[in-house]
Parts: sequence; structure tokens; C-alpha cells
Amino acid sequence: MAVWIKTPLGILAENAEGGLVIKDGKIAELVGKGEVPSSVPTSELEILDASNHVVLPGLINTHHHFYQTLTRACPPALNKPLFPWLKALYPIWARLSPKMIELSTRLALAELLLSGCTTAADHHYLFPKALPDAIDIQANTARQMGLRVTLTRGSMSLGEDQGGLPPQSTVQDEETILEDSERLIQRYHETGEDAFVQIALAPCSPFSVSTELMKSSAELARKYGVRLHTHLAETHDETAFCEKMFGLRPLDYLESVGWLTDDVWLAHGIHFETEEIQRLGKAGVGICHCPSSNMVLSSGICRTLELTAAGSPVGLGVDGSASNDGSNLIQEVRQALLIGRLRYPANEMTHLEAFKMATEGSAGCLGRDDIGKLEVGMAADIALFKLDEPRFSGAGDPLAALLLCGAHKADHVMVSGKWRLKNGEIPGLDMASLIAEHSSLARELVT
Ligand code: ZN
Repeated sequence: MAVWIKTPLGILAENAEGGLVIKDGKIAELVGKGEVPSSVPTSELEILDASNHVVLPGLINTHHHFYQTLTRACPPALNKPLFPWLKALYPIWARLSPKMIELSTRLALAELLLSGCTTAADHHYLFPKALPDAIDIQANTARQMGLRVTLTRGSMSLGEDQGGLPPQSTVQDEETILEDSERLIQRYHETGEDAFVQIALAPCSPFSVSTELMKSSAELARKYGVRLHTHLAETHDETAFCEKMFGLRPLDYLESVGWLTDDVWLAHGIHFETEEIQRLGKAGVGICHCPSSNMVLSSGICRTLELTAAGSPVGLGVDGSASNDGSNLIQEVRQALLIGRLRYPANEMTHLEAFKMATEGSAGCLGRDDIGKLEVGMAADIALFKLDEPRFSGAGDPLAALLLCGAHKADHVMVSGKWRLKNGEIPGLDMASLIAEHSSLARELVT
């Protein structure tokens, strides 16, 4: 049955004061002010009264490490910048088990869904011997949860013995990485509109992957038309590493391995020169801004508006839960707004710009044109927030209130026309048991 999300309190769409009609998993109609739907007879519509809700396109998270929900606020990693933080965590992460991947994926997706997220990209790059099928587990878990995912087959091939950062026990040889990448693309990658599981290739970072693997991953991705992802320009330590190891700044290194192209999106993208921002924009490279993580690790502030102006899609990511340490996407939009105000004038870094990152910008990073906007023909991925908590009392502009008053929990979320969150609950999920089991595995992993 078609659904009319009727007369919302606020909506992130033009000429839709009367709401939206959802039919066959898509947005069938935007209803103007004072109007009723014309695409479907009113008698055939299920009506959801949204007069107390603010309606957004389902939010899109473009960088995460789901497994890190098991190492939040982890004592050995507290109060450290990126490189020492990674060195404290690598040996712990090397002990991940299949059950840990399953439950951390389920928990992270539940947490994202509760915060209005309908599509999430994950970057998984740890494949210890006991865990050859981490991405398979993630794909199956995501299908059960009903969110869209871009699962990136991450990789590390440059261990300490080759001058890299990660311990040798966490890296794989290139042949194994490429074979498994090809297997995963063939098995799981869906193309076209309404895709639920997509695969991308994601060598982890310049300091954990060989030059050859950067090049061969790009060749393989282009053979199958899948996207490429990596961490880049996150810290000054990384810039120093690239200059010492390759004699190049991170962006020049990226270009030298054939990655300065529009099928690439990068996590962080902080430490670029003005001239480098122009090159990124011209090439159409996407940037995933991760404000909380960048603040937690004292990494710096991404030059979001300049990247957007140069032509890059700029999306949003919560990043892994060891450097955020939550997976709350609507709170991340607030963080993007606030940190953006430290770099740009308030009238340029507006609440609408912040929403744009988590919707259209993120869709651009993932190479998708079927999600991220409330327009006729787009997928019915929708998040509804209620302004009924004390923090919102007295608020004027409903959209601005979500960010300025600190919304943290969606009320209803729909993915491809199906309700995946209803009245703040995920149907079919026993949250108490999930938290109990997940936290018990976290204790097992860290101690
Ligand atoms: Zn990351």
C-alpha cells in the first residue's frame, strides 16, 4: 500500500509542505502546501500524520569501521594521536573473531539506524587467519538489518618489516588480497538503482599498503566498475611518512598510483594545500569529512566548503567507534556544523550545508544518484525525527533545531519503502540481548 507522510512539521525538500507519497519503494510524489496527493487516490493511502515530525532523506554514512564498536574508550588508546593510537590498538584488533564481526556489524548498524541513517559504508581491513570471511559476515548481517551498505574490502600489506606502521601479523600478501577482493565483487556487488550491498576496494592508508597494491587495486576496481576508498591526508605524521617513504606529499602519491579520479572517495582529507584542493575538485574525488574523529585524535579541520566549491562531493562519516566513539550520524551532522563554524563564517557554514554533506554529498562519495534527496523517483529512504524532548522545547525553525538543539534519535526510519525503525524501536531486534552479547565480546577482546 502507498503511504502518505502527511504535512510534516519540517522537511528537507522544496515544495513538499504537504508531505510525501511513497509507493513501490520510491518517492512517488511531493505534496505542495495545502494540497492532497494526486498520484494515488486518497482512499488507497495509508496516512502517517507527520505534524510532529521533521522529515529528512535517510542519512548516509561514508566511513566507518564497525569492528571498532568493540574498542570504544579503550584504555590503552585513550588521549593519543593517530599513530600511537593505532599502535596501541592493532594488537587488540588482530584477535577479532567471526562472532565479533557479526555482532559489531549488527550493533553499529542498529546504532546508525537509530540516528536516522539508511546507508552506511564500512572500511574493514583486518583479516587475521581466523577471519578470512569478515566481509561475507558483514554482507549477511547488513541484509538481515535492511540498511544499504557499501562494504569496502580493506587491506594492509606494508607491515613493520617493510617500513609500514602495522605489526606483521595483521598484514596479508598482495595476491591473497586481490583474489579475495575479486571473489567479493563477484559474489556481492549489486549494480544499478536500489542496490543494497555494494563492494568497493580500500587499501587502508599510505602507511600500511604498498605502492603496488594501490595500483593493482585500482586496476581491479576499474575492471568491475566498483569504487575505490582509502584514508588520506589525516595527519601531519602521515604527510611526513609519505615525504620520507615516497618523496611525495600524500596527494602527489595518490596521483602517482592512478587514484586522482572520480571513482575514488577519501576518508578525512584534512591536510591539503589550496592548490591540491583545486586538483581534487577538478578530478571529482570525493571526501568523507569525519568531524568527531578528527577532534578526538587532534587531527585537524577538513576544508569542506572549499572542496565543495572546487567540485568534490563532500560527504560525512562517523569513522570507527574507537575514535568517535559513537556511531550517531545525526549528531555527526551537528559536529560538522560546529567545527565548520570554526573555519568558515556562520552565514556560509549553514545548517543546510551540514545536512547536504550527510545526504547529497555522501551519495556522491558512494557514486549513487538514487539516494540522498527527497525527490520524485528517488528511493524511499527517509528519516523522521520528533521534537518532543526538553532540548527542543521553544525551538523555532524545525530543521535548524535538529542540529542546534542536538537531536540524537530518530523516531521512524524507512529504507526502500520498508519501516526499519518504528516509534524508536527496530522491529525484530532484541536490543538488550545484543548489547549484553556485544559488550561481553568486547571485554573478551580487550582483556
Ligand atoms: Zn577510518
